[in-house]
Amino acid sequence: MSEANEANDCLFCKIIAGEIPSAKVYEDETTYAFKDINPKAKVHVLVVPKRHYANVAELAEKDPAELAHIAEVAASIARDAYNGSFRLVFNTGLDAGQTVFHVHAHVLTGETLDE
Ligand code: C5P
Repeated sequence: MSEANEANDCLFCKIIAGEIPSAKVYEDETTYAFKDINPKAKVHVLVVPKRHYANVAELAEKDPAELAHIAEVAASIARDAYNGSFRLVFNTGLDAGQTVFHVHAHVLTGETLDE
């Protein structure tokens, strides 16, 4: 499947475009953040680049500035929602539990997290 087709069929591309509703937490020119529908912590936000990249390895290779920006946005969400502590997770590949193949950072915060 081509990258264009992947993007056309992509759930998170549709969320970013507003075609599927989401609980938006943050948005700027390049980046979108919304509440995870199945939260694993008191505050569980997904931060995604608006451009379609399949996973964090592809993002790091093709747009490292955006990867750094996602970390900054995550830190800002954790400062606003809690005390600045947060866990940042990029599940990468089927065996790691990645289910949506548009790169997304899980930001987990809002409470003391289990190890
Ligand atoms: O890392 P992984 O690919 O498993 O994460 C996908 C995440 O997207 C899940 O935590 C799931 O709850 C979330 N999701 C969502 N809104 C959707 C579909 C999935 O927040 N409409």
